[in-house]
Amino acid sequence: MMDTDYIDSVHRRSLQGARRWPTLQGAQATDIAIIGGGLAGLSCALELAQRGRSVCLLEAQRLGWGASGRNGGAVSPSWSARDDVLLHRLGQDHFDALFRLSMEGVEIVREAALRLAGEAAQLVPGHVKFSVYDNADAFRRSCAQQRERYGRPLHYLDHAAVRALVDSPRYHQGVYAEDGFHFHPLNYCHALARECARLGVSLHEHSPVRTLAARHGQFLLDTDTARVTAQTVVVCTGGYTGPLVPALQRASLPIATYVMLTEPLGERLHQAIRTPAALGDTRRAGNYYRITQGDRLQWGGHITTRVSDPRNITAILQRQLALCYPQLKDAPVALTWSGLMGYARHMMPQIGQLRPGLWHCTAFGGHGVNTTAIGARCVAEAITGESDRYRRFAPFGLAWNGGPLGRLAVQFTYWRYQLDDWLRARRSPPG
Ligand SMILES: Cc1cc2nc3c(=O)[nH]c(=O)nc-3n(C[C@H](O)[C@H](O)[C@H](O)COP(=O)(O)OP(=O)(O)OC[C@H]3O[C@@H](n4cnc5c(N)ncnc54)[C@H](O)[C@@H]3O)c2cc1C
Repeated sequence: MMDTDYIDSVHRRSLQGARRWPTLQGAQATDIAIIGGGLAGLSCALELAQRGRSVCLLEAQRLGWGASGRNGGAVSPSWSARDDVLLHRLGQDHFDALFRLSMEGVEIVREAALRLAGEAAQLVPGHVKFSVYDNADAFRRSCAQQRERYGRPLHYLDHAAVRALVDSPRYHQGVYAEDGFHFHPLNYCHALARECARLGVSLHEHSPVRTLAARHGQFLLDTDTARVTAQTVVVCTGGYTGPLVPALQRASLPIATYVMLTEPLGERLHQAIRTPAALGDTRRAGNYYRITQGDRLQWGGHITTRVSDPRNITAILQRQLALCYPQLKDAPVALTWSGLMGYARHMMPQIGQLRPGLWHCTAFGGHGVNTTAIGARCVAEAITGESDRYRRFAPFGLAWNGGPLGRLAVQFTYWRYQLDDWLRARRSPPG
């Protein structure tokens, strides 16, 4: 059984031991106010504080409470939008510049996780993507291209190499990326928060910004208990974006995705999965998973555009697990949870300036760990006048999300992708 109360209780439990940050009271003046305390907001705050700016961050719930503390913890280069779509739209040079930014994002997170969270980051190197249908030529080609163009340490895995890593009838070929990793995303959020505080950032939980107004060249942000006056505002509200800035709410959709954690599975898990790396497949909204806490499996997948979670989500995830690893089909599940991702129609983040001083750094979709880090850095560089790298995101504006019809369109696109993947998998010989 799965309902909102259950999901909320899982998140409350995971945040229970975390340091608490005070609700903001009264009046505060700051250079920069950041709205949203996920990876985008915390990374922006850190980048700006490192550049000597005074920053106040306001989070409606707890720091890391949104997608950032709930995600699968897989970190690798790239964006939520498909590479071929971006390349076709932008041309090679622009595509390359964006791809390199996504790689820089991975390195920002790796460095900060090791330096600020240490062992609590639980960082494990390696990231593998499998194909669920026979796709050898495309995999080999893409691997060689990325090695040559970006210097990425990638290894093509033929069928035998895939079988050496995992005992799954589902997979054909794979790519092993040495530059990817997985880690504990909530611990990373907490480490970012501690470092922000050390550098003087004023951090506040349970401080939802209710209104945002511009007056006499300044911004006024009102919460239930406080007023912040700021020269500059950065909105980092991700999949939890509300009506505060209507143009942002109109331009992205909240999409839910789901994760379950098994009970300890002992040796049978290590017989099925013989690598500590983060694993996933190349389907749109495919599965992403990893071994954690020694012998538990954290398994993610499935998306919905529904506001409430489906009740049978554990059963859906268990079915997906059984398709990939029939030997784990009855694995007992300890926890299941969900989170919302912000998706624009173009599936790229929304990074830019709505009007002078009002910035947005949001809608990172399902590839948000590395991309929030580099998005935040680009925004901080723009605010401090250090670079205009944020302009690389100019082609991805605030296009209308289509309202309720947009939701339906996304759900249909997802079903179409599923059908497409299923047909291709059926046409392939068994893995
Ligand atoms: C289940 C799941 C699995 C995922 N797995 C991966 C993965 O393995 N790898 C990967 O790269 N990405 C993954 N992602 C995507 C990634 O987690 C997100 O893209 C990223 O965390 C987005 O960060 P954010 O800061 O933009 O949003 P969030 O972390 O959602 O933060 C937004 C915050 O804004 C706050 N907020 C909203 N409105 C207000 C307001 N008015 N006032 C104050 N605060 C407000 C919210 O409370 C929230 O805490 C996953 C996402 C989910 C949900």
